[in-house]
Amino acid sequence: MIFRITPLKPVAQLMEQARKERPPESGPGLRQPELVDLAALSPDFKFDVRYATDRNFLGVPVYASSHAFLEKPAAEALSRVLAFLKTKGYGLLIFDAYRPWFITKVFWDATPADKHQYVANPQTGSRHNRGCAVDLTLYDLKTGAQIEMPSGFDEMTERAHSDYAGATAQQKAARQLLKDAMQKEGFTQLPAEWWHFDYKDWALYPIQNIPFEEL
Ligand SMILES: [Zn+2]
Repeated sequence: MIFRITPLKPVAQLMEQARKERPPESGPGLRQPELVDLAALSPDFKFDVRYATDRNFLGVPVYASSHAFLEKPAAEALSRVLAFLKTKGYGLLIFDAYRPWFITKVFWDATPADKHQYVANPQTGSRHNRGCAVDLTLYDLKTGAQIEMPSGFDEMTERAHSDYAGATAQQKAARQLLKDAMQKEGFTQLPAEWWHFDYKDWALYPIQNIPFEEL
């Protein structure tokens, strides 16, 4: 099931407006960005980039292509997570990675205030804008089937919380396996979203606003 909100304004209008705005300035001394396409790193990364489809919380596509990019050290760390999980029979299904800043602005402006805890504030930017956050889940390497988790991706309810106790034992075990595997390679799970992980060096990279058309 796909979780949806009713956008506060038409998404097309918000997109047009957000494209004209400028992201917050990044501080000095940051690393030079080097976004890497995860698809080039392993055939065992699978992709369901929801924001390139209408199967997302806004109900319309907001990405021009279904690619997933991360800054190089984060992408390499994620490859190591995948290599470990393969020994357990799992692959990684990627929902989202690098996100241009103007899309973060659209998410914020479209979302009612009572759900703002689930979207990043554009004034500070998202770690997705820095190419250092990834949304993902596990799939079964043999069958290709997605492993059942306590909630769907982008579900803005307490079932998405990383400590939600009402899940089944199996769902909790899967959530824990993903968390442990990611943590070993420097990724931290977001308390409000079991699928979202930040790479440890996120603060060293600037907020970027390059649209997918230009990547
Ligand atoms: Zn995320």
